[in-house]
Amino acid sequence: MEEVFVEWAKAIHREQTVVDGHLDLAAEVYRRRLHGERDVVERRYLRSFLEAGLNVCVSSVFVSSGDLPEKGLPVAMAQIAALREDLEPVRDVIGVVSSREELEGALRDGRIAVLLSLEGLDPIGTDLYLLRAFYDMGVRGAGLTWSRPNAFARGCCKAGEFAEIHGGLTELGREAVAKMEELGMYVDVSHLNNDGFADILECAKKPFMASHSDAWSVHENYRNLRDDQIAALASQGGVIGVNACGTIAGAAPFPREQAIDCLCRHVEHLAAVAGEEHVGFGFDLCNGLSASTPRLSFDVEEDDLLLHHGEMLTLSAALLGRGMREDTLAGVLGGNFLRFFRETLS
Ligand SMILES: [Zn+2]
Repeated sequence: MEEVFVEWAKAIHREQTVVDGHLDLAAEVYRRRLHGERDVVERRYLRSFLEAGLNVCVSSVFVSSGDLPEKGLPVAMAQIAALREDLEPVRDVIGVVSSREELEGALRDGRIAVLLSLEGLDPIGTDLYLLRAFYDMGVRGAGLTWSRPNAFARGCCKAGEFAEIHGGLTELGREAVAKMEELGMYVDVSHLNNDGFADILECAKKPFMASHSDAWSVHENYRNLRDDQIAALASQGGVIGVNACGTIAGAAPFPREQAIDCLCRHVEHLAAVAGEEHVGFGFDLCNGLSASTPRLSFDVEEDDLLLHHGEMLTLSAALLGRGMREDTLAGVLGGNFLRFFRETLS
């Protein structure tokens, strides 16, 4: 990597808004604190967040299948509480935001803003009133499903499998979309199957996003979006976050050059099909969660193409080296997701 691109990338990261649209932070913090760890974010993440100049991070609330159905609700609530408690000692540097005003305040003061999103509505069972309860806990986005069926929709297959799963939204799933839009929660289509995506496209009245999905045309994996889906999502105002899970993107973490090259190809393809103002990052870095959660129900481990957020600089330098314009990179780094959040948050 030429040094000139690295220095250029560092300057852009300092000046522009940097967003990670998907990180399983709450789940990992909860697991680690259960085992007695404290200051999880400060000790394990903060240095790399600051190195990357990260401004906004979406923390998903992810309940693993072993805790469903009975423990879905308490575990999801406990994850949110654990994350808030973990961030309390470093509240001058990083904290949960749940309104546009709080987001703007964090950006203005140089604090990292954490947005909460449910990765699957499993914790609410079939009770849409609990959507409001999660809204009141600060949750501002949700996917209807993870890669598993529930009362609202069917997920696509897990990242390490390869099978088309059919079946769209249930009636309750359509009601959930309407309720989320009414509350001011964005809909996240990552993990939905193709039928579910088509149903969202038909019933959503507001822009929706795919927080952590790549392009099927670059790597055929059912977690990824077809070109027609990418174009449709973009045309209604959505943003797609490029996923750095090796299985989903189609590369191994090593050698590094190939891992970074693979991510660049997804960014470039998504920008070509969606338009560059509809692409962001939702890295889905899972090594930390995998290490903290033995026997997780997903089957992908040690698969992150970026080893920590500081490596975003390497990715940005690579994109610049391949000819990406500075203003395009600024949008992909975070400007595009920021626009989406500003429109969505009340
Ligand atoms: Zn996911």
